[in-house]
Amino acid sequence: MKIGVLALQGDFLEHQQALDRLVVESCQVRNAAELAGLNGLIIPGGESTVIGKLAQDFALLEPLRTFAKQHAVWGTCAGSIFLSKDVRREQPLLGMMDITVERNAFGRQVDSFEIDLDIPVLRTPTGENPPFHAIFIRAPLIESVGSGVEILSALPDGRVVAARQGHWLATAFHPELTDDDRLHRYFLEMVQ
Ligand code: GLN
Repeated sequence: MKIGVLALQGDFLEHQQALDRLVVESCQVRNAAELAGLNGLIIPGGESTVIGKLAQDFALLEPLRTFAKQHAVWGTCAGSIFLSKDVRREQPLLGMMDITVERNAFGRQVDSFEIDLDIPVLRTPTGENPPFHAIFIRAPLIESVGSGVEILSALPDGRVVAARQGHWLATAFHPELTDDDRLHRYFLEMVQ
């Protein structure tokens, strides 16, 4: 199995390090040719406007959409914004996942926070499921989801922060910045 990490901007290295810990081969993707032979793709956190504009400038939007139709794709934070169908403002998006995202929903950089989340799909066969320590950095919210979208996790007040639609996964936070690899494992199961 080989997983690509979109490496236009943002914390792609941290995703590669998480994949290294799981002994999964990964590579950085900066052009369409580098998508060939990959089994899945992670779009990292960063700045979604920058990721979108670079993808546009490097003629990557259509190749990424074609790839996403056939393969598992996971967007974390800015990546989830880029993967979404709608952010209610003008910026280049892949427009794949049927979610509406509100950017910077919690405020500015100084309003970033960490919180323990319940993510029921991470329960092991023996029933264990400790909370997932989630890091939100000027994070978006998944404001609404389409009918084919499964909500994977929400904040205590019910606001959605993780969702899945078939082979697409979106998390508003940064699992790659912790040493808890359960969401990376979950994504690898989706890839398989
Ligand atoms: N605020 C960024 C955006 O709107 C996302 C931040 C992040 O990826 N940590 O693109």
